[in-house]
Amino acid sequence: MSINISEIFYSIQGEGPQIGTPAIFIRLAGCNLTCEWCDSKYTWKKDLITSTDISFKDLSDVICSYLINNPHPPRLLIFTGGEPLLQWSSIRQFLQYLMDSVGKNNLSVLDYNLKHLNISFETNGTIYPKLIQNIGAEKKYISYFSDWSIIISPKLQFSNQYKEHWWEGISPVYNYLLYLKFVISDKNDLKIIEKDFLHRRKNSWDGVRNEKIYLMPEATTTEQQIEKLPMLIDFARKYGCKVTLRLQVMAYGNIRGV
Ligand code: SF4
Repeated sequence: MSINISEIFYSIQGEGPQIGTPAIFIRLAGCNLTCEWCDSKYTWKKDLITSTDISFKDLSDVICSYLINNPHPPRLLIFTGGEPLLQWSSIRQFLQYLMDSVGKNNLSVLDYNLKHLNISFETNGTIYPKLIQNIGAEKKYISYFSDWSIIISPKLQFSNQYKEHWWEGISPVYNYLLYLKFVISDKNDLKIIEKDFLHRRKNSWDGVRNEKIYLMPEATTTEQQIEKLPMLIDFARKYGCKVTLRLQVMAYGNIRGV
């Protein structure tokens, strides 16, 4: 049993609702989209891709080492990509493996640290309904781990992957798990959010609340982020959304593994 991954690392979450939180990142290989500005093309693009099949045991060992060898272990485990939910079936089996192997070894400290993890998914949202069906049927995972979050980053016009009515696949049933994180390139992206999501929702859909919507600049440098901030702040003030920066880019530049 294995998962195809691109990299594993321990850092802080640099963006979105969990910004600033120490986290273990598992970056899965493969994506079903090909966004032009993608900053992790090495997870899916031919000639750039670097990935490896890691066994459940080896992956579990890495995670457990972060949880055991740290007097203040991280409380956040992030499955990112690429599009991690392409491998949802393997993730699901892996979480079961993790629960079983820790239970079998009766390692109480590890068990405690594992149970206090927030399991988070960063997804483009295109595979979301499948996840909901599975999570709905797998309540034992929800009750074992401390918390869950799904951060959907719908792709807008600049990505060349824009699909009208993308939001129709999002069920409000698991609304409490959800955050939306829009990557904003320019004013056209904000217009799309207004037209296709915020305005339409008032009449027909009452899902993710505005305070759970994050606006993030499309940027690979600190300067580009700062340049776009006023535009994002104006929009957030108008609709009660939130603005997030990309701390990892500010701290280290546009590099892998941070
Ligand atoms: S969905 Fe995400 S990982 Fe996939 S191509 Fe777009 S930006 Fe890259």
